[in-house]
Amino acid sequence: VLGKQGAGKGTQCVRLSRHYVIPHISTGDLFRTAAAAQTPYGKLVEHYIAEGELVPDDVVIGVVAERLAEDDTIRKGFVLDGFPRTLAQAEGLAELLAPDDLDLVLDLEIPKEVALARLSERRVCVSCGTNYSLSRPPKFDWTCDICGGEVVQREDDSEEAIRRRLMLYEEETAPLVAWYEERGKLAVIDGLGEPDEVQARMVAAIDAAIRSRHQ
Ligand code: ADP
Ligand code: ZN
Repeated sequence: VLGKQGAGKGTQCVRLSRHYVIPHISTGDLFRTAAAAQTPYGKLVEHYIAEGELVPDDVVIGVVAERLAEDDTIRKGFVLDGFPRTLAQAEGLAELLAPDDLDLVLDLEIPKEVALARLSERRVCVSCGTNYSLSRPPKFDWTCDICGGEVVQREDDSEEAIRRRLMLYEEETAPLVAWYEERGKLAVIDGLGEPDEVQARMVAAIDAAIRSRHQ
């Protein structure tokens, strides 16, 4: 799933993984977990994340390669969230999957102003990563509805890091939309509206792609 920061990618990808009962693979989550555990590669990636910079392609591809080699993804498939974000990553992914390929790439579209507004409102559970916002807070006092963890603003949701990430999106990630379009893999999804509506659009696009493949 492609889409600007703030498009609701994370939340929608978690829901897709539940709907289709397949693993959810978020490179951002994998990096944050590694950084929190201070593993060697966690230490390597943490300053890129804090500054809103992209983690180097070879590191990202290595982490995804490991995850895709695990049992559950091999058996069930997967939904990729926040990967690929550069042409090199898309090419690396194609190599990892060959002779198979992705079924479909969803591009979740929202205007830049909406992205900025949503990111500055975003709050997230430090324990399980569930997203909230100033306008959709947890039920009790910034305590996660799901796990009871503390809900805070992400460190890389500072105004400066947000601006940097959106710029990198335009430069590095937006070209992937045309790249997957040329390969007949792309469905563009309107990311505006209620999360339920957006989810329904995504599921409809995926189901249509599955149906046409089986015809
Ligand atoms: P967001 O989409 O809101 O920026 P993510 O959780 O997807 O948040 O990513 C957080 C950070 O992790 C990114 O700003 C970047 O530093 C790093 N990151 C995640 N995925 C990738 C990727 N595919 N390539 C490079 N860096 C990545
Ligand atoms: Zn939580």
